[in-house]
Amino acid sequence: GFKMGIVGLPNVGKSTLFNALTRTAAAQAANFPFCTIEPNVGEVAVPDARLDKLAAIAGSKQIIPTRMTFVDIAGLVKGASKGEGLGNQFLANIREVDAIAHVLRCFEDGDVTHVEGRVDPVADAEVIETELMLADLDSIEKRRAGLVRKLKGGDKEAVQADRLLALAQAVLEEGKPARTVEIDDDDLKAWKMLQLLTSKPVLYVCNVEESNAAEGNAHSAAVAEMAAAEGAGSVVISAQIEEEISQLDPEEAFVFLEEMGLEEAGLDRLIKAGYELLHLETYFTVGPKEARAWTIPSGTPAPKAAGVIHGDFEKGFIRAETIAYEDFVTLGGEQKAKDAGKMRAEGKGYVVKDGDVLHFLFNT
Ligand code: GDP
Repeated sequence: GFKMGIVGLPNVGKSTLFNALTRTAAAQAANFPFCTIEPNVGEVAVPDARLDKLAAIAGSKQIIPTRMTFVDIAGLVKGASKGEGLGNQFLANIREVDAIAHVLRCFEDGDVTHVEGRVDPVADAEVIETELMLADLDSIEKRRAGLVRKLKGGDKEAVQADRLLALAQAVLEEGKPARTVEIDDDDLKAWKMLQLLTSKPVLYVCNVEESNAAEGNAHSAAVAEMAAAEGAGSVVISAQIEEEISQLDPEEAFVFLEEMGLEEAGLDRLIKAGYELLHLETYFTVGPKEARAWTIPSGTPAPKAAGVIHGDFEKGFIRAETIAYEDFVTLGGEQKAKDAGKMRAEGKGYVVKDGDVLHFLFNT
């Protein structure tokens, strides 16, 4: 599954948000009890109204949403790259995530101490980013030094790694994160394997007070501008509202959101923004037993998409019987879509589209 790391300075609302996200009733969906793997790791069900609709049409007994993992990465402070705070421990945590949700304090509250003594989310973002950039520079130097012998031997992988490390080093030395390097498709895999902290996509999470939850405020507007300039995402959330919602059942939560003038809970918006940032899509498998959602990167060919369910599905892939979500819903289910000629037999070259309802045929 996909993993999002929650980072931010102390006292910005990371734990409040993490706890709310992982405890909320919606996140726990009937057949998917929220599970705590470690105290700071939580899996949440990805809310998707389409899945409920498909299940209702097919009369599926079970609804199984796809899921996303959140990791609360505490201990990031100024000086972390030099081992202050929890130092290297949390840097290792960040290496393992697919994307970073960077929580920024956009609320004013004299009772909550700000570590820098002022509310300035754009400056806070820079503090954290600087630590991550310093940590990257440090690890790049070490890794390049470690590659010297292999380079002399002409080792192809080492040559590629060193070339990519040098590209990253150059932008980092200019004070820019590694994600600003443009990487050719041929290099993408090796680039990802470098696991540079500042190469991960970033989603800024503006934590505002309750009264600003719908519209945001001047702080969150400044963050949105920064995000747009650097190709990052941003969402406005009130961690305190999320905490209140997490204690309500879904119907109560719906009423509460309406009263606050909000269309969706923060969890929904956060996950949607995460999907966008990571270029993720969802396809469905639907039958009388269960309706289930699966996550894939956009542009995934059918056999690889099948492999998300089981490795054998990918190895023995024959074809995918495919119905577009809209057809499934407007025509009223699989049989009716089939009768209307809307079920397609797609082969190995088919690129799965968001919302496809798939049935895989494979050799064992
Ligand atoms: P962390 O150190 O980043 O994990 O921050 P916490 O989640 O522990 O929050 C720090 C303090 O800020 C706690 O006392 C929270 O109740 C408070 N807090 C979190 N979010 C908000 C908010 O949106 N508004 C206000 N006024 N206080 C908040």
